[in-house]
Amino acid sequence: MENHEPFLREAIALSKSAVANGDEPFGSVLVKDGAVLLRAENSVFTGHDMTNHAEMNLVKLAARHHDPAFLADCTLYTSTEPCAMCSGAIYWSGIGRMVFACSETRLGEIAGIGLNVPSRAVLQTGARAVTVVGPTNLEEEAAEVHQEFWPKHLSKV
Ligand SMILES: [Zn+2]
Repeated sequence: MENHEPFLREAIALSKSAVANGDEPFGSVLVKDGAVLLRAENSVFTGHDMTNHAEMNLVKLAARHHDPAFLADCTLYTSTEPCAMCSGAIYWSGIGRMVFACSETRLGEIAGIGLNVPSRAVLQTGARAVTVVGPTNLEEEAAEVHQEFWPKHLSKV
């Protein structure tokens, strides 16, 4: 069976890196044929743009390096389920599969914020199929950084 854990753990590490850099705890990696091609983390504060979610940053980076036909064979791994905006961006990018550890529901329980739209609700409406996997058995591991971060930072959102 395919092992998603190393890539999700890398995305979780990036979510912690984002906090260390002064941003929100989200990270994503782009993978093809078992190799990490690109990495991105949330940069809403340091980038002065509240749409700089990890997945948006990764999709934009991916689009600069690869065409949609290439991206169709790629997987976007992300620490926490993408919001509706990012799910839409993943759809338009051409990326073929998305795997997340922590669900939007779990994030909402901890942070009390978010659009609260399951990524599948967006991606399953598309004309192009995007495979969605998650939440995984690493959900609580991915949620740890949220439990640490959000109680201290909710006033900034
Ligand atoms: Zn998002």
